[in-house]
Amino acid sequence: MKPAIRVTVWNEFLHEKENEAVRRVYPLGLHQAIAEGIRQEGVEVRTATLEEPEHGLTEEVLNETDVLIWWGHKAHGRVEDAIVDRVQERVLQGMGLIVLHSGHYSKIFKKLMGTSCSLKWREVGEKERIWVVDPAHPIAEGIGQYVEIPHEEMYGEHFDIPKPDELVFVSWFEGGEVFRSGCTYHRGLGKVFYFRPGHETYPTYYNPDVLRVISNGVQWAAPRHGATPVYHHTLPLEEIRSTK
Ligand code: ZN
Repeated sequence: MKPAIRVTVWNEFLHEKENEAVRRVYPLGLHQAIAEGIRQEGVEVRTATLEEPEHGLTEEVLNETDVLIWWGHKAHGRVEDAIVDRVQERVLQGMGLIVLHSGHYSKIFKKLMGTSCSLKWREVGEKERIWVVDPAHPIAEGIGQYVEIPHEEMYGEHFDIPKPDELVFVSWFEGGEVFRSGCTYHRGLGKVFYFRPGHETYPTYYNPDVLRVISNGVQWAAPRHGATPVYHHTLPLEEIRSTK
């Protein structure tokens, strides 16, 4: 039997403590809703939050994490650089990373992308239709032509990210904007998936299709590697006769 994929869902977990409207939607926090929604056979899920020691992302936790899911919004600046460096290092070594919604402005995403990751936004609760533009991609498995979310925050282009390795979803919003809402990247040995929906005042992380996409993302981003790369000076495998 294949070993279970170990997932850590990270949430800054502040809106839920400070805002009654958010608490009504996610009484135990966004991270718990996501964790419950993606827990299945073959996937072990734990959570971590900003106000835990080392933001819950200790060496031990990261060593036992195959895929890290990241939701943050109002406190990106409170995430310590040492922890960001630690997460980046683990991604380069092969840990998968799924960045959700306002995580586009997190230190870790900006560091891995190298661009401003800025975008347009508007919060009036308009309709979002997330179109599958790469139906053969494993992250789109089991999803129809599109996922419709009745009320969401709008994110619009231009989204200042590097050109994605693969574009899986493009969102349309009722107000007329479009957005590259499902983007994949490789960084070192690690795989990164950015997925747009999930404003804290809407029940988006209970939507079965949204959870299916995140679950598919976990399967896609989980490390599945061959040999660990070897760098620096190296001895020849065969005898070399043509040296001077
Ligand atoms: Zn938002």
